[in-house]
Amino acid sequence: MTGTTIIDGRAIAREVEADLATKTSALLERAVRPCLAVVLVGEDPASRVYVRHKTRAAERIGVEARDHALSGDVSTERVLQEVRALNDDPAVNGILVQLPLPPQVDENRVLLAIAPHKDVDGFHPDNLGRLVIGEPRFVACTPRGCMHLIRSVCPEISGKRALVVGRSTIVGKPMALLLTQADATVIVAHSKTQDLAAEVGRADIVVAAVGRPKMIRGEWLRAGAVVIDVGINRGDDGKLIGDVDFDAALGRAGAITPVPGGVGPMTIACLMSNVVEAAHRRLDRG
Ligand code: NDP
Repeated sequence: MTGTTIIDGRAIAREVEADLATKTSALLERAVRPCLAVVLVGEDPASRVYVRHKTRAAERIGVEARDHALSGDVSTERVLQEVRALNDDPAVNGILVQLPLPPQVDENRVLLAIAPHKDVDGFHPDNLGRLVIGEPRFVACTPRGCMHLIRSVCPEISGKRALVVGRSTIVGKPMALLLTQADATVIVAHSKTQDLAAEVGRADIVVAAVGRPKMIRGEWLRAGAVVIDVGINRGDDGKLIGDVDFDAALGRAGAITPVPGGVGPMTIACLMSNVVEAAHRRLDRG
């Protein structure tokens, strides 16, 4: 095994965006402009960067992005008030509350307050529950994007052994559900997993979503494995690095996503897909 395909998340995201731009144009002809409301609380620099990326993507495909910035010292009630107003605004198709919220704000209460049919992040229990029963409405953007990236190099997921490292509600758990629904045999690893190297070595597909730089070593990988690196970590030099030792995986993995330029752009493209789908559903409901 010598050649490793580098999965170009930016290029695949651009394809998704081009398709979405066509759909948005068709909606505009019916006098509907999909609208995403982004609630940003406080001044967290990383959150501001993410919000800027989302706003730019929205502009590229013709989605209206409305920023709702609240100061960092607001109460839970104030954030809830904002969310309820957006729930009631018929012009808003999708609501995104940028995480993390400041410590005094009750994140769970805020996420629960978002109307499920506007929850384009897919974090509301109603949407997570729908995914569990196999009738998804909004699928969390990062796992949805990962499935797209996996399928770009591995169209037949059925029967493959997949390992998801990490079990968070926003990445690991929905990721495992999606792979299960695609008929993979799925193992979920976490901080109590005994022999991670052995689990990695058995997997045809590895999705790493931990937040620890280079923790998945290249020599652990099964030759030819498809490796999706969700992790975003900042190295000592300030550069972004993933959870997988990318250089060591080259020549061993069959395909791998880089960090940056892999999962990140696809997450944003899938957010936009959810917004456009939300606008379509609203139109269908009349
Ligand atoms: P969380 O911190 O919520 O979850 C991390 C998971 O990793 C937990 O389930 C934890 O296990 C597990 N874990 C911790 N240590 C180990 C270990 N030694 N071995 C195996 N598993 C371990 O993180 P998120 O899911 O929110 O995010 C994960 C990473 O993905 C982060 O780097 C984040 O920045 C990135 N991310 C990237 C996105 C993108 O668009 N590219 C979007 C979202 C996240 P346990 O449950 O036992 O504690």
